[in-house]
Amino acid sequence: MVEVTPVMNRRLIVVAAMALAVVVMGVAVMSVVGFGSPPERPDPAQMIDSGSWYRKFPWPHDGHPYETEHFVVYSDGASLNARQQLAAIAEEVLVEVVDEMGVDPATMFRYPASQDKIDIYASRYHVLEVGGLSLGATAYYAGIIVPSLDSDVVRTDEGVRFDLKHEMVHVVEALLKGNFVGDIPVGDPRRMPVWFSEGTADALTGGATGGAPRTLDKVNALIAKYGRINPIAWRVDLPPSEVGDAYAKYYYPMAQLAVEYLLDADGLGRSPHDLAAVMLDMGSGASFASAFEAHIGLSESEYEAQFFTRMDAYLPQSEFPRKTVGVALGSLLAASLLGCSLLWGFRHWPAVATTTGAVSEPTSGRRGRRGFVLEIAVSAVLTVGFAALLLHLIVFADLPSYMSRAPGYSATAAYLVVAGAILLWSVRRWAYQQRAAWLIPLLLIADAVLTVTILHETWHR
Ligand SMILES: [Zn+2]
Repeated sequence: MVEVTPVMNRRLIVVAAMALAVVVMGVAVMSVVGFGSPPERPDPAQMIDSGSWYRKFPWPHDGHPYETEHFVVYSDGASLNARQQLAAIAEEVLVEVVDEMGVDPATMFRYPASQDKIDIYASRYHVLEVGGLSLGATAYYAGIIVPSLDSDVVRTDEGVRFDLKHEMVHVVEALLKGNFVGDIPVGDPRRMPVWFSEGTADALTGGATGGAPRTLDKVNALIAKYGRINPIAWRVDLPPSEVGDAYAKYYYPMAQLAVEYLLDADGLGRSPHDLAAVMLDMGSGASFASAFEAHIGLSESEYEAQFFTRMDAYLPQSEFPRKTVGVALGSLLAASLLGCSLLWGFRHWPAVATTTGAVSEPTSGRRGRRGFVLEIAVSAVLTVGFAALLLHLIVFADLPSYMSRAPGYSATAAYLVVAGAILLWSVRRWAYQQRAAWLIPLLLIADAVLTVTILHETWHR
Protein backbone atom coordinates (compact mmCIF):
# COMPACT_ATOMS: atom_id res chain seq x y z
CA MET A 1 0.00 0.00 0.00
CA VAL A 2 1.12 3.56 -0.70
CA GLU A 3 0.74 6.01 2.12
CA VAL A 4 -0.63 9.43 1.22
CA THR A 5 1.84 11.93 2.65
CA PRO A 6 1.21 15.70 2.83
CA VAL A 7 3.66 16.17 -0.08
CA MET A 8 1.66 13.74 -2.20
CA ASN A 9 -1.55 15.47 -1.16
CA ARG A 10 -0.22 18.77 -2.51
CA ARG A 11 0.82 17.03 -5.72
CA LEU A 12 -2.65 15.55 -6.08
CA ILE A 13 -4.20 19.00 -5.74
CA VAL A 14 -1.83 20.43 -8.36
CA VAL A 15 -2.61 17.57 -10.76
CA ALA A 16 -6.37 17.97 -10.20
CA ALA A 17 -6.13 21.73 -10.80
CA MET A 18 -4.17 21.19 -14.00
CA ALA A 19 -6.72 18.62 -15.23
CA LEU A 20 -9.53 21.06 -14.50
CA ALA A 21 -7.71 23.81 -16.41
CA VAL A 22 -7.28 21.50 -19.42
CA VAL A 23 -11.02 20.64 -19.38
CA VAL A 24 -12.02 24.33 -19.14
CA MET A 25 -9.68 25.28 -21.98
CA GLY A 26 -11.02 22.39 -24.08
CA VAL A 27 -14.60 23.51 -23.60
CA ALA A 28 -13.64 27.09 -24.50
CA VAL A 29 -11.83 25.99 -27.67
CA MET A 30 -14.72 23.73 -28.71
CA SER A 31 -17.29 26.49 -28.32
CA VAL A 32 -15.14 28.82 -30.47
CA VAL A 33 -14.55 26.12 -33.10
CA GLY A 34 -18.24 25.55 -33.58
CA PHE A 35 -19.85 23.44 -30.92
CA GLY A 36 -21.66 26.46 -29.55
CA SER A 37 -25.35 27.15 -30.01
CA PRO A 38 -26.40 27.18 -33.70
CA PRO A 39 -27.47 30.49 -35.26
CA GLU A 40 -31.16 31.20 -35.57
CA ARG A 41 -33.00 29.87 -38.59
CA PRO A 42 -33.23 32.72 -41.15
CA ASP A 43 -36.36 34.89 -41.07
CA PRO A 44 -38.76 33.59 -43.78
CA ALA A 45 -39.45 37.19 -44.85
CA GLN A 46 -35.81 37.60 -45.88
CA MET A 47 -35.61 34.38 -47.88
CA ILE A 48 -35.34 34.65 -51.66
CA ASP A 49 -37.72 32.63 -53.78
CA SER A 50 -35.64 31.67 -56.79
CA GLY A 51 -32.82 29.43 -57.91
CA SER A 52 -31.81 26.98 -60.61
CA TRP A 53 -32.89 24.07 -58.35
CA TYR A 54 -36.46 25.36 -58.21
CA ARG A 55 -37.81 22.87 -60.71
CA LYS A 56 -36.63 20.03 -58.48
CA PHE A 57 -37.31 21.54 -55.06
CA PRO A 58 -38.93 24.98 -54.66
CA TRP A 59 -36.77 25.91 -51.68
CA PRO A 60 -35.94 29.58 -51.06
CA HIS A 61 -32.37 30.60 -50.17
CA ASP A 62 -31.09 33.16 -47.66
CA GLY A 63 -29.46 35.51 -50.20
CA HIS A 64 -25.87 34.83 -49.12
CA PRO A 65 -24.40 32.62 -51.85
CA TYR A 66 -20.72 31.71 -51.51
CA GLU A 67 -18.76 31.56 -54.79
CA THR A 68 -15.63 29.72 -55.84
CA GLU A 69 -14.08 29.18 -59.27
CA HIS A 70 -16.63 26.61 -60.46
CA PHE A 71 -19.39 26.72 -57.84
CA VAL A 72 -21.99 28.96 -56.23
CA VAL A 73 -23.19 27.55 -52.90
CA TYR A 74 -26.72 28.61 -51.92
CA SER A 75 -28.37 27.63 -48.66
CA ASP A 76 -31.33 28.07 -46.36
CA GLY A 77 -29.06 29.04 -43.47
CA ALA A 78 -25.83 27.07 -43.50
CA SER A 79 -22.92 28.86 -41.82
CA LEU A 80 -20.29 30.54 -44.01
CA ASN A 81 -17.76 28.00 -42.76
CA ALA A 82 -20.01 25.08 -43.81
CA ARG A 83 -20.45 26.64 -47.28
CA GLN A 84 -16.72 27.21 -47.70
CA GLN A 85 -15.93 23.64 -46.70
CA LEU A 86 -18.58 22.24 -49.06
CA ALA A 87 -17.32 24.38 -51.95
CA ALA A 88 -13.74 23.24 -51.26
CA ILE A 89 -14.81 19.57 -51.34
CA ALA A 90 -16.82 20.21 -54.54
CA GLU A 91 -13.80 21.79 -56.26
CA GLU A 92 -11.67 18.76 -55.35
CA VAL A 93 -14.31 16.29 -56.47
CA LEU A 94 -14.82 18.14 -59.78
CA VAL A 95 -11.08 17.91 -60.50
CA GLU A 96 -11.16 14.17 -59.76
CA VAL A 97 -14.13 13.51 -62.06
CA VAL A 98 -12.85 15.74 -64.87
CA ASP A 99 -9.37 14.13 -64.71
CA GLU A 100 -10.72 10.58 -64.70
CA MET A 101 -13.01 11.27 -67.65
CA GLY A 102 -10.43 13.29 -69.61
CA VAL A 103 -12.76 16.25 -69.84
CA ASP A 104 -11.73 19.87 -70.48
CA PRO A 105 -14.39 22.01 -68.78
CA ALA A 106 -13.31 25.22 -70.59
CA THR A 107 -14.05 23.84 -74.05
CA MET A 108 -16.49 20.97 -73.42
CA PHE A 109 -18.98 22.17 -70.79
CA ARG A 110 -22.25 23.61 -72.05
CA TYR A 111 -23.98 25.51 -69.25
CA PRO A 112 -27.65 26.51 -69.26
CA ALA A 113 -28.13 30.06 -70.62
CA SER A 114 -28.52 31.57 -67.13
CA GLN A 115 -25.44 29.96 -65.51
CA ASP A 116 -21.69 29.92 -65.87
CA LYS A 117 -20.99 27.97 -62.69
CA ILE A 118 -22.42 24.86 -61.04
CA ASP A 119 -25.02 25.73 -58.39
CA ILE A 120 -25.02 23.83 -55.12
CA TYR A 121 -27.97 24.11 -52.78
CA ALA A 122 -26.72 23.15 -49.30
CA SER A 123 -29.85 22.35 -47.35
CA ARG A 124 -29.65 22.91 -43.64
CA TYR A 125 -33.31 22.55 -42.73
CA HIS A 126 -35.04 20.88 -45.68
CA VAL A 127 -35.21 17.12 -45.94
CA LEU A 128 -34.02 15.68 -49.24
CA GLU A 129 -36.72 13.21 -50.25
CA VAL A 130 -38.29 11.91 -53.45
CA GLY A 131 -41.40 9.74 -53.34
CA GLY A 132 -40.88 8.95 -49.66
CA LEU A 133 -37.29 7.87 -50.33
CA SER A 134 -34.66 9.97 -48.58
CA LEU A 135 -31.66 10.86 -50.74
CA GLY A 136 -28.04 11.60 -49.86
CA ALA A 137 -27.98 14.18 -52.66
CA THR A 138 -29.48 14.78 -56.08
CA ALA A 139 -28.37 16.41 -59.32
CA TYR A 140 -29.98 18.42 -62.10
CA TYR A 141 -28.62 20.14 -65.26
CA ALA A 142 -25.90 22.31 -63.69
CA GLY A 143 -26.55 21.85 -60.02
CA ILE A 144 -26.51 19.62 -56.98
CA ILE A 145 -28.77 19.61 -53.93
CA VAL A 146 -27.09 18.22 -50.85
CA PRO A 147 -27.44 18.50 -47.03
CA SER A 148 -25.16 21.24 -45.65
CA LEU A 149 -22.23 20.15 -43.50
CA ASP A 150 -23.94 21.75 -40.49
CA SER A 151 -27.30 20.20 -41.39
CA ASP A 152 -29.52 18.99 -38.56
CA VAL A 153 -29.58 15.64 -40.32
CA VAL A 154 -26.54 13.85 -38.91
CA ARG A 155 -23.97 13.24 -41.60
CA THR A 156 -20.20 12.98 -41.85
CA ASP A 157 -17.98 14.95 -44.24
CA GLU A 158 -17.08 11.69 -45.94
CA GLY A 159 -20.71 10.87 -46.68
CA VAL A 160 -21.22 14.27 -48.26
CA ARG A 161 -18.04 13.95 -50.29
CA PHE A 162 -19.11 10.55 -51.56
CA ASP A 163 -22.61 11.71 -52.52
CA LEU A 164 -21.14 14.86 -54.10
CA LYS A 165 -18.89 12.81 -56.36
CA HIS A 166 -21.75 10.60 -57.56
CA GLU A 167 -23.86 13.68 -58.34
CA MET A 168 -20.84 15.47 -59.85
CA VAL A 169 -20.57 12.68 -62.45
CA HIS A 170 -24.24 13.33 -63.34
CA VAL A 171 -23.56 17.08 -63.61
CA VAL A 172 -20.48 16.53 -65.80
CA GLU A 173 -22.63 14.21 -67.96
CA ALA A 174 -25.31 16.91 -68.28
CA LEU A 175 -22.75 19.64 -69.05
CA LEU A 176 -21.15 17.47 -71.76
CA LYS A 177 -24.57 16.77 -73.34
CA GLY A 178 -25.94 20.24 -72.77
CA ASN A 179 -29.09 18.79 -71.18
CA PHE A 180 -30.28 16.76 -68.22
CA VAL A 181 -31.74 13.23 -68.58
CA GLY A 182 -35.06 14.31 -67.10
CA ASP A 183 -35.42 17.15 -69.61
CA ILE A 184 -35.50 14.82 -72.65
CA PRO A 185 -38.83 13.06 -73.21
CA VAL A 186 -39.02 9.32 -72.52
CA GLY A 187 -38.70 7.42 -75.80
CA ASP A 188 -36.54 10.09 -77.46
CA PRO A 189 -33.37 8.31 -78.75
CA ARG A 190 -31.29 11.27 -77.49
CA ARG A 191 -32.24 10.40 -73.90
CA MET A 192 -29.45 8.85 -71.86
CA PRO A 193 -30.64 5.49 -70.41
CA VAL A 194 -30.62 5.40 -66.62
CA TRP A 195 -28.39 2.30 -66.44
CA PHE A 196 -25.57 4.14 -68.25
CA SER A 197 -25.96 7.31 -66.20
CA GLU A 198 -26.15 5.62 -62.78
CA GLY A 199 -23.68 2.89 -63.75
CA THR A 200 -21.11 5.53 -64.75
CA ALA A 201 -21.67 7.54 -61.56
CA ASP A 202 -21.29 4.44 -59.37
CA ALA A 203 -18.38 2.95 -61.35
CA LEU A 204 -16.38 6.18 -60.99
CA THR A 205 -17.32 6.55 -57.31
CA GLY A 206 -16.87 2.96 -56.24
CA GLY A 207 -20.59 2.42 -55.72
CA ALA A 208 -22.84 4.34 -53.38
CA THR A 209 -24.96 1.28 -52.66
CA GLY A 210 -22.42 -1.33 -51.66
CA GLY A 211 -20.70 -1.78 -55.01
CA ALA A 212 -21.14 -4.10 -57.97
CA PRO A 213 -21.40 -7.87 -57.37
CA ARG A 214 -17.99 -9.36 -58.22
CA THR A 215 -18.85 -13.08 -58.41
CA LEU A 216 -21.50 -15.19 -60.16
CA ASP A 217 -22.59 -16.47 -56.75
CA LYS A 218 -23.44 -12.90 -55.75
CA VAL A 219 -25.20 -12.15 -59.04
CA ASN A 220 -27.24 -15.35 -58.70
CA ALA A 221 -28.16 -14.51 -55.12
CA LEU A 222 -29.42 -11.10 -56.34
CA ILE A 223 -31.40 -12.72 -59.17
CA ALA A 224 -32.93 -15.23 -56.74
CA LYS A 225 -34.10 -12.36 -54.55
CA TYR A 226 -35.14 -9.71 -57.07
CA GLY A 227 -35.69 -11.61 -60.31
CA ARG A 228 -33.62 -11.86 -63.49
CA ILE A 229 -33.84 -8.20 -64.44
CA ASN A 230 -31.53 -7.17 -67.28
CA PRO A 231 -29.79 -3.98 -66.11
CA ILE A 232 -29.39 -2.75 -69.72
CA ALA A 233 -33.20 -2.69 -69.94
CA TRP A 234 -33.23 -0.06 -67.14
CA ARG A 235 -33.70 2.91 -69.39
CA VAL A 236 -36.11 5.09 -67.42
CA ASP A 237 -36.35 5.95 -63.71
CA LEU A 238 -38.91 3.81 -61.94
CA PRO A 239 -41.22 5.04 -59.18
CA PRO A 240 -39.47 4.19 -55.86
CA SER A 241 -42.75 2.94 -54.42
CA GLU A 242 -42.82 0.31 -57.16
CA VAL A 243 -39.20 -0.86 -56.99
CA GLY A 244 -38.67 -0.81 -53.21
CA ASP A 245 -35.25 -1.85 -51.95
CA ALA A 246 -34.44 -3.50 -55.31
CA TYR A 247 -33.37 -0.05 -56.49
CA ALA A 248 -30.49 0.22 -54.05
CA LYS A 249 -29.73 -3.50 -53.82
CA TYR A 250 -30.18 -4.67 -57.43
CA TYR A 251 -30.55 -1.89 -60.02
CA TYR A 252 -27.66 0.35 -58.97
CA PRO A 253 -25.10 -2.42 -58.27
CA MET A 254 -26.01 -4.24 -61.51
CA ALA A 255 -25.76 -1.01 -63.54
CA GLN A 256 -22.37 -0.42 -61.92
CA LEU A 257 -21.33 -3.95 -62.94
CA ALA A 258 -22.55 -3.26 -66.51
CA VAL A 259 -20.36 -0.13 -66.77
CA GLU A 260 -17.38 -1.70 -64.96
CA TYR A 261 -17.44 -4.48 -67.56
CA LEU A 262 -17.08 -1.84 -70.29
CA LEU A 263 -14.05 -0.40 -68.45
CA ASP A 264 -12.34 -3.56 -67.21
CA ALA A 265 -9.41 -4.91 -69.23
CA ASP A 266 -11.04 -8.36 -68.86
CA GLY A 267 -14.29 -6.90 -70.21
CA LEU A 268 -14.29 -4.48 -73.13
CA GLY A 269 -11.23 -2.55 -71.92
CA ARG A 270 -12.64 0.94 -72.59
CA SER A 271 -11.79 3.92 -70.40
CA PRO A 272 -13.81 6.64 -68.66
CA HIS A 273 -12.64 8.87 -71.56
CA ASP A 274 -14.83 6.75 -73.85
CA LEU A 275 -17.81 7.23 -71.53
CA ALA A 276 -17.22 10.99 -71.74
CA ALA A 277 -16.99 10.73 -75.54
CA VAL A 278 -20.46 9.08 -75.63
CA MET A 279 -21.84 12.02 -73.63
CA LEU A 280 -20.05 14.61 -75.78
CA ASP A 281 -21.44 13.03 -78.99
CA MET A 282 -24.93 13.19 -77.56
CA GLY A 283 -24.30 16.90 -77.05
CA SER A 284 -24.09 17.29 -80.81
CA GLY A 285 -27.41 15.54 -81.33
CA ALA A 286 -26.31 11.90 -81.65
CA SER A 287 -28.64 9.24 -80.27
CA PHE A 288 -27.36 7.29 -77.28
CA ALA A 289 -27.41 4.06 -79.31
CA SER A 290 -25.14 5.42 -82.06
CA ALA A 291 -22.78 7.26 -79.67
CA PHE A 292 -22.52 4.12 -77.51
CA GLU A 293 -21.75 1.85 -80.43
CA ALA A 294 -19.21 4.30 -81.88
CA HIS A 295 -17.17 4.59 -78.68
CA ILE A 296 -17.76 1.28 -76.91
CA GLY A 297 -17.59 -0.98 -79.98
CA LEU A 298 -20.71 -2.94 -79.15
CA SER A 299 -24.32 -1.98 -79.73
CA GLU A 300 -26.58 -1.38 -76.76
CA SER A 301 -29.11 -3.95 -78.03
CA GLU A 302 -26.36 -6.58 -78.41
CA TYR A 303 -25.08 -5.78 -74.93
CA GLU A 304 -28.58 -6.21 -73.56
CA ALA A 305 -29.11 -9.53 -75.38
CA GLN A 306 -25.69 -10.86 -74.34
CA PHE A 307 -25.48 -9.34 -70.88
CA PHE A 308 -25.87 -12.46 -68.73
CA THR A 309 -23.79 -14.63 -71.11
CA ARG A 310 -20.99 -12.08 -70.99
CA MET A 311 -21.15 -11.95 -67.18
CA ASP A 312 -20.95 -15.77 -67.06
CA ALA A 313 -17.65 -15.60 -68.93
CA TYR A 314 -16.38 -12.50 -67.10
CA LEU A 315 -17.09 -13.09 -63.42
CA PRO A 316 -15.51 -15.83 -61.29
CA GLN A 317 -17.99 -18.26 -59.76
CA SER A 318 -16.90 -17.41 -56.23
CA GLU A 319 -13.98 -15.93 -54.39
CA PHE A 320 -11.55 -17.91 -52.27
CA PRO A 321 -11.90 -16.33 -48.82
CA ARG A 322 -8.19 -15.44 -48.83
CA LYS A 323 -8.59 -12.68 -46.32
CA THR A 324 -10.51 -14.73 -43.75
CA VAL A 325 -8.17 -17.73 -44.05
CA GLY A 326 -5.08 -15.50 -43.93
CA VAL A 327 -6.24 -13.62 -40.88
CA ALA A 328 -7.27 -16.87 -39.13
CA LEU A 329 -3.90 -18.57 -39.82
CA GLY A 330 -1.95 -15.44 -38.88
CA SER A 331 -3.86 -15.03 -35.62
CA LEU A 332 -3.40 -18.71 -34.78
CA LEU A 333 0.36 -18.50 -35.34
CA ALA A 334 0.69 -15.28 -33.36
CA ALA A 335 -1.47 -16.65 -30.52
CA SER A 336 0.52 -19.89 -30.26
CA LEU A 337 3.89 -18.08 -30.31
CA LEU A 338 2.76 -15.57 -27.70
CA GLY A 339 1.19 -18.39 -25.66
CA CYS A 340 4.45 -20.38 -25.71
CA SER A 341 6.52 -17.38 -24.72
CA LEU A 342 4.05 -16.64 -21.93
CA LEU A 343 4.29 -20.23 -20.64
CA TRP A 344 8.07 -20.07 -20.89
CA GLY A 345 8.02 -16.94 -18.81
CA PHE A 346 5.94 -18.56 -16.07
CA ARG A 347 8.10 -21.67 -16.02
CA HIS A 348 11.32 -19.75 -15.60
CA TRP A 349 10.14 -17.13 -13.16
CA PRO A 350 8.09 -19.15 -10.71
CA ALA A 351 8.40 -16.41 -8.10
CA VAL A 352 5.54 -14.49 -9.66
CA ALA A 353 3.27 -17.47 -9.30
CA THR A 354 3.82 -18.02 -5.60
CA THR A 355 1.12 -16.74 -3.30
CA THR A 356 3.38 -16.19 -0.33
CA GLY A 357 5.29 -13.45 -2.06
CA ALA A 358 8.53 -15.30 -1.38
CA VAL A 359 11.09 -14.51 -4.02
CA SER A 360 13.45 -17.16 -5.22
CA GLU A 361 16.23 -16.94 -7.74
CA PRO A 362 15.48 -18.17 -11.26
CA THR A 363 16.11 -21.90 -11.50
CA SER A 364 19.04 -21.26 -13.77
CA GLY A 365 20.59 -17.92 -14.70
CA ARG A 366 21.68 -19.06 -18.13
CA ARG A 367 18.43 -20.79 -18.98
CA GLY A 368 16.56 -17.75 -17.78
CA ARG A 369 18.66 -15.46 -19.91
CA ARG A 370 18.23 -17.68 -22.96
CA GLY A 371 14.48 -17.80 -22.43
CA PHE A 372 14.42 -14.05 -22.05
CA VAL A 373 16.38 -13.42 -25.25
CA LEU A 374 14.07 -15.82 -27.10
CA GLU A 375 11.01 -14.04 -25.74
CA ILE A 376 12.33 -10.64 -26.87
CA ALA A 377 13.20 -12.04 -30.31
CA VAL A 378 9.78 -13.69 -30.78
CA SER A 379 8.05 -10.50 -29.61
CA ALA A 380 10.06 -8.32 -31.99
CA VAL A 381 9.36 -10.59 -34.98
CA LEU A 382 5.64 -10.73 -34.16
CA THR A 383 5.53 -6.95 -33.68
CA VAL A 384 7.07 -6.29 -37.09
CA GLY A 385 4.85 -8.97 -38.66
CA PHE A 386 1.71 -7.46 -37.16
CA ALA A 387 2.69 -3.97 -38.35
CA ALA A 388 3.28 -5.39 -41.86
CA LEU A 389 -0.15 -7.08 -41.76
CA LEU A 390 -1.75 -3.79 -40.67
CA LEU A 391 -0.04 -1.87 -43.48
CA HIS A 392 -1.14 -4.49 -46.00
CA LEU A 393 -4.73 -4.27 -44.76
CA ILE A 394 -4.69 -0.46 -44.90
CA VAL A 395 -3.22 -0.30 -48.42
CA PHE A 396 -5.60 -2.91 -49.84
CA ALA A 397 -8.61 -2.06 -47.69
CA ASP A 398 -12.01 -1.81 -49.38
CA LEU A 399 -12.06 1.80 -48.27
CA PRO A 400 -13.69 4.19 -50.71
CA SER A 401 -11.14 6.42 -52.41
CA TYR A 402 -12.29 9.56 -50.61
CA MET A 403 -11.36 8.18 -47.19
CA SER A 404 -7.90 9.06 -45.98
CA ARG A 405 -5.52 6.24 -45.15
CA ALA A 406 -3.30 8.61 -43.17
CA PRO A 407 -4.86 7.81 -39.75
CA GLY A 408 -4.11 4.14 -40.43
CA TYR A 409 -0.45 4.85 -41.12
CA SER A 410 -0.19 7.06 -38.03
CA ALA A 411 -1.82 4.41 -35.83
CA THR A 412 0.57 1.76 -37.18
CA ALA A 413 3.56 4.02 -36.55
CA ALA A 414 2.30 4.71 -33.01
CA TYR A 415 1.86 0.95 -32.49
CA LEU A 416 5.47 0.32 -33.52
CA VAL A 417 6.77 3.10 -31.27
CA VAL A 418 4.88 1.74 -28.25
CA ALA A 419 5.94 -1.85 -28.99
CA GLY A 420 9.55 -0.68 -29.38
CA ALA A 421 9.31 1.15 -26.07
CA ILE A 422 7.95 -1.98 -24.33
CA LEU A 423 10.79 -4.11 -25.66
CA LEU A 424 13.45 -1.52 -24.86
CA TRP A 425 12.03 -1.11 -21.39
CA SER A 426 12.17 -4.85 -20.75
CA VAL A 427 15.73 -5.13 -22.10
CA ARG A 428 16.80 -2.17 -20.00
CA ARG A 429 15.22 -3.63 -16.91
CA TRP A 430 16.81 -6.96 -17.89
CA ALA A 431 13.34 -8.15 -17.07
CA TYR A 432 14.06 -11.82 -16.65
CA GLN A 433 16.05 -11.09 -13.51
CA GLN A 434 13.28 -8.94 -12.13
CA ARG A 435 10.69 -11.57 -13.07
CA ALA A 436 8.74 -9.11 -15.17
CA ALA A 437 9.32 -10.81 -18.51
CA TRP A 438 5.83 -12.35 -18.43
CA LEU A 439 4.50 -8.80 -18.82
CA ILE A 440 6.04 -8.43 -22.28
CA PRO A 441 3.49 -10.43 -24.32
CA LEU A 442 0.60 -8.99 -22.29
CA LEU A 443 1.75 -5.39 -22.93
CA LEU A 444 2.29 -6.13 -26.62
CA ILE A 445 -1.17 -7.72 -26.92
CA ALA A 446 -2.69 -4.65 -25.21
CA ASP A 447 -0.79 -2.42 -27.68
CA ALA A 448 -2.08 -4.41 -30.66
CA VAL A 449 -5.68 -4.50 -29.36
CA LEU A 450 -5.60 -0.74 -28.75
CA THR A 451 -4.29 -0.09 -32.27
CA VAL A 452 -6.93 -2.32 -33.90
CA THR A 453 -9.65 -0.62 -31.83
CA ILE A 454 -8.45 2.83 -32.92
CA LEU A 455 -8.37 1.80 -36.59
CA HIS A 456 -11.83 0.28 -36.31
CA GLU A 457 -13.20 3.42 -34.67
CA THR A 458 -11.59 5.58 -37.36
CA TRP A 459 -13.19 3.84 -40.32
CA HIS A 460 -16.36 2.15 -39.09
CA ARG A 461 -18.15 4.84 -37.18
ZN1 LIG B 1 -27.37 8.95 -59.46
